[in-house]
Amino acid sequence: MNGYRCFQCDLTQAADFPGWACPDCGGNLDVVNDHDTILRQIKKAPYNSERIPLRIGNTPLYAAERLGQSIGLRNLYLKDDTVNPSASSKDRASGAVVVRAMDAGAKIVSAASTGNAGSSLACIAAAAGLQAVVFVPESAPIAKLTQALSFGATVLSVRGSYDDAFDLCMEASKRFGWYNRSTGINPFTREGKKVCAWEIWAALEGRVPDRVIVPAGDGNILSGMWKGWRELKEVGLVDQLPKIDCAQSNRSNAITRMVRTMGRSDQPDWATATPVSVAASTVADSISVDRPRDGTAAARAVVESGGIAITVSDKQILSAIPEMASMSGIFPEPAAATPLAAAKLMVKEHLVAADEIVVCLVSGNGLKDIERARTVTTEPLVIEPSLDAVEAAIASVKDPAAA
Ligand SMILES: *Cc1c(COP(=O)(O)O)cnc(C)c1O
Ligand SMILES: [Zn+2]
Repeated sequence: MNGYRCFQCDLTQAADFPGWACPDCGGNLDVVNDHDTILRQIKKAPYNSERIPLRIGNTPLYAAERLGQSIGLRNLYLKDDTVNPSASSKDRASGAVVVRAMDAGAKIVSAASTGNAGSSLACIAAAAGLQAVVFVPESAPIAKLTQALSFGATVLSVRGSYDDAFDLCMEASKRFGWYNRSTGINPFTREGKKVCAWEIWAALEGRVPDRVIVPAGDGNILSGMWKGWRELKEVGLVDQLPKIDCAQSNRSNAITRMVRTMGRSDQPDWATATPVSVAASTVADSISVDRPRDGTAAARAVVESGGIAITVSDKQILSAIPEMASMSGIFPEPAAATPLAAAKLMVKEHLVAADEIVVCLVSGNGLKDIERARTVTTEPLVIEPSLDAVEAAIASVKDPAAA
C-alpha cells in the first residue's frame, strides 16, 4: 500500500501513519494501493488468505431467474455471502483485519458490533489463534451471541445501543492496547470487503452489472463494494462502473438522508459533510445504526457512482425473507433481505429497467435471526402419525407445493 487518504478532506498520510482517523478533520481513512499491487491481487483469484485456515469470501453469484421474473427483473443475481464461515459478509473484513493484527503482533482483537461483526471476529480470531473481545448492544439476536460465545470470545453485552457499544469499545481498546476491528474506524475492513466486487466481476466473466444493491448500516460494505469496482477500473480491467444503490430501512436511514442532501449539489463538499444521527429502531438489527461510522464514504460512493439510496418499511423487509428463500433457495436474515425489498420498490417506482443487470448482496444467513423470520412464515401442520392425517392436512392447504 502507498498510504492513506481521508474520505472527507482528501488529505493523504504515509503508509506508516500510526492513527485511525485523519489527524486534520477526523474523517475516515481509505487505504491507497498502488496500481501493480492491485493488479497482482486481482489476478491472484481465488482471494483466500493463506494465513487464516478458513474459506473467507469466494462466495457464489447466482442468477436468480424465478425470483427476478416474479419482481420484474430479467437479469437478477444474488451474491450469496451467507456461506461465509460465520455466515455473513463481515468475515471478509475480519479476515483482512486479523491478518493486520497478526502482523502488528497483537494477541487480542476487539470490535463493537450489532451482532455479526462480533460473531465474525470471534470466528476468524478462533481460526487464527487470537483472543477476541466483542461489545454488543443488549438487544443483539441470541444466535449471533451464541456464535461469538461458542467461538470462545469474551462477549460484553452493553446496556445501551450499538453506538454506546461502539464508543465503549474505542475507549477500552485504547486503554488496554487491543487491536480494534470496529467498522469504519479501521481502514482495513474496507480492504476485505472490496474483494466482493472483484468476485462479482470474475463471476460475470468481465461483464459489469448495471447496479449492485447493498444493505447499509454503517455503510462499510457499501464503501468497500464501490472501492473494489473503482480499483478494477483503475487497473484497466473494466471501462464501466456499476451504480451502487444503498438499501436501508426507513427506521434506520441516516445514509439515505445524507445521499439526498449531498446528491442535490453538483459539486458536493464532502469536507463539511457529516451524517446526521437518527434514532434507529429497525427489525433488521444488522443495519440498525444511529450514526453510521462509514457514512461519508458510503454516501460518497452512492453519489459518485450515480446510484440511489432507497428506504423500505420493516414489513417489506420481512416479507422479502420468505420471498427470496422460496424462490432462490437462499435464506437471508432481515438486513440481507433488504436489497430485494429495495429492488422491488425500485421496479415499482420505475427507478430500474427490466433488462438491467442487478446484483443484490445477500449479506447474512437467515438462521441468525429465526425469531424475525418466524413472524412471516406459516405454522407447520401438526398431525398424528397416519396417512389419513397427511391426506387431511394436504387437503387443507390450497397449494401443497407452497405449503
Ligand atoms: C453489517 C451488516 C450489514 C451492513 O453493513 P455496514 O457496513 O454496517 O453498512 C448488512 N447486512 C448484514 C448481514 C450485516 O451483518
Ligand atoms: Zn481529513
